[in-house]
Amino acid sequence: MKPEQVAYEIKQNDKVGRYVVAAKELEAGEEFLVDTAAVIGPKHHTPPVCLGCLSLTSGDTLCERCGWPVCGPSCADLPAHKEAECAVFAAANVKFSSSVEDPTADCPQYECITPLRLLLTIGSKIWNDKFALLSHNCVPNTAHSIGADYKVRVRTTVPVKKGDELFITYTHTLQPTYARRQHLKLSKYFDCECARCADPEELGSNLSTIKCPKCEWGWVRAEKPLDDASDYKCHKCEYKMSNADTMKVMGVIQREIEALDPADLEVREQLIKKYHAFLHPKHAHLTALKHSLCQLYGRVAEYTFEEMPDLLMERKIELCKHMLQIADIVQPGYSRLRGMILYELHAPLIMLARSLYQQDVLTGFALLTRMQEAERVLAEAVHILSFEDPDSMEGQLAAQARFSLEQLQQTIIMLPQQIDIMDGEQHIGG
Ligand SMILES: [Zn+2]
Ligand SMILES: [Zn+2]
Ligand SMILES: [Zn+2]
Ligand SMILES: [Zn+2]
Repeated sequence: MKPEQVAYEIKQNDKVGRYVVAAKELEAGEEFLVDTAAVIGPKHHTPPVCLGCLSLTSGDTLCERCGWPVCGPSCADLPAHKEAECAVFAAANVKFSSSVEDPTADCPQYECITPLRLLLTIGSKIWNDKFALLSHNCVPNTAHSIGADYKVRVRTTVPVKKGDELFITYTHTLQPTYARRQHLKLSKYFDCECARCADPEELGSNLSTIKCPKCEWGWVRAEKPLDDASDYKCHKCEYKMSNADTMKVMGVIQREIEALDPADLEVREQLIKKYHAFLHPKHAHLTALKHSLCQLYGRVAEYTFEEMPDLLMERKIELCKHMLQIADIVQPGYSRLRGMILYELHAPLIMLARSLYQQDVLTGFALLTRMQEAERVLAEAVHILSFEDPDSMEGQLAAQARFSLEQLQQTIIMLPQQIDIMDGEQHIGG
């Protein structure tokens, strides 16, 4: 029996229909479901490709039955094409229009192929036992990756007890409650009532919390978070903000952030200072800015690691730790988000420790301790990112992280000896 057949169980209730629970105790990082794609087809935006093998074509060779591009008769006879749109197009006389001047330009006619292939599978058994049966939660306990083999691999991110429901997320976990619920309503047609949505504090992540303008240390939150029209109220002083006013302010800030140059680090720091006056430090808008910044420091012109003073190394560390605090609540465990942030965190930890040691601020022993902390951080990043498909962006990062980890471990092994020598030199020098 395949492991995925015993790891989960499909259940049913009136509220969500079918859902999936753990059929046994699952460890964090356990792959419990591998699903093949329901259909494989051209991307939504694509230049003309062969409808058999999906390679790029000039569009000159056409299928004899339907008149759409293929490499030749053998590709035309592949079931992916022959048993799907080929017969439909031939019967309805839907022709490929070869008026395209540039064969590398996107061909709008192709947008219908993959949806059509999917529609043609309705009623077949592939819809029964699928990844899509996992319900949504704004705090998912699983993550999935799609490999080059078109398979979806689903794994737990945290330990899951037998009988507990397995969740994926259909929305963006770093968005505030009103934005997530709106997105789910518009794209998936349901009102999320998960524990995070129901809690005005969002389980302590405070991604929707606003600073009270009337009192000190009061936090303004939705009175009824599951009501889209809810007013907002301070938890200390009874100050109230109408739903309409709150949404207006949030919209203004959101547009300001969306208009930013993706590489502009300084403007982001300025906006953070500005928004700190009226948002909770963890508010989604501040968190979005901080998330970008923790990726920009060390990477953009004038802020490469070589150019960054200790103060900015500390800033990058602070930003990564901020993101980790939030990720620990909204995407806990072995999530891609935590893997990426841990990866960002290791380098400034190492560089700051080295710099402080060179300035005699750290003892040799303190340097070693800090390097070991960086090693733990990087080792966890490697572990998490290794779940990803090796060809994906995260998978490539995993390889890079693994290489950095080996180097760091070598450095740590050599360190006690080097510290002795360096400390010795300092003694002689002094
Ligand atoms: Zn072909
Ligand atoms: Zn055909
Ligand atoms: Zn929710
Ligand atoms: Zn107040």
